[in-house]
Amino acid sequence: MQAPKASLRAWRPGPFLLIQLALHVAALVLLLSAPQEWRWAAAAVLLSQLMLMVAGLWPRSTCLGANLVRLPTAAMQRAEVAITIDDGPDPEVTPQVLAILAQHGVSATFFCIGERAAAQPELCKSMLAAGHRIENHGARHPTLLSLSGPAGWRREILEGQQILHRITGQPPRFYRAVAGLRNPFLDPVLHELGLQLASWTRRGFDTQEQNPDKVLQRLTHQLAAGDILLLHDGNAARTPAGEALIVSVLPRLLEAIRARGLTPVTLSQACDPP
Ligand SMILES: [Zn+2]
Repeated sequence: MQAPKASLRAWRPGPFLLIQLALHVAALVLLLSAPQEWRWAAAAVLLSQLMLMVAGLWPRSTCLGANLVRLPTAAMQRAEVAITIDDGPDPEVTPQVLAILAQHGVSATFFCIGERAAAQPELCKSMLAAGHRIENHGARHPTLLSLSGPAGWRREILEGQQILHRITGQPPRFYRAVAGLRNPFLDPVLHELGLQLASWTRRGFDTQEQNPDKVLQRLTHQLAAGDILLLHDGNAARTPAGEALIVSVLPRLLEAIRARGLTPVTLSQACDPP
């Protein structure tokens, strides 16, 4: 399978990245014109690197490029929310999640890991058949991906894209970064591959938290139209009784969403309504 066609519009850095570029250029000019002032040049570079690091460690920041952290205004006006489920598919947990979603007649967006999807192609197909969407969470989900250069990002995302496209017959349109962590090299790669970065409005930390009440509280506190909620079917933490957190929380979360008059939709439905 070939790489997707490059976007027609050239990638351009946003204001935050232009400021960082200016700081680096100013430091270089200072170093060349007045080497004795090297401390100021070093301080400028250090400050810039620090700002880039903070932006990359903040999953909901939009400094490093476009980042969907909330549904578009039109979806908000339709009282829509999006349930997004990461790190699957998981042969044990995902079927339980699909059963709960089916009971409530709800569609969700699954950010699948390519190699896990490749091990469970039939499960992926059953997700699509039930009206859910599968989006790109990379090929292997390496923990230190956010330290990669352009080639590392491109390889991980493109391989994930190709695996998921091959299994589902649909090219994913959204990408979600591992733990939401990024660096400035990600945005040009997403632009080239025609993918949109999607983060979240609220998350329950359901890969670490063992108490389902706390996860539910984090997801429903100030829950409102336009929210993108993050849960996990892969790497899910377990309750003391051994149940995956998402399985314990999801029925009550769906009730809370319904009680507030909100409608769960997929990210695609919210961003491109029919
Ligand atoms: Zn993940």
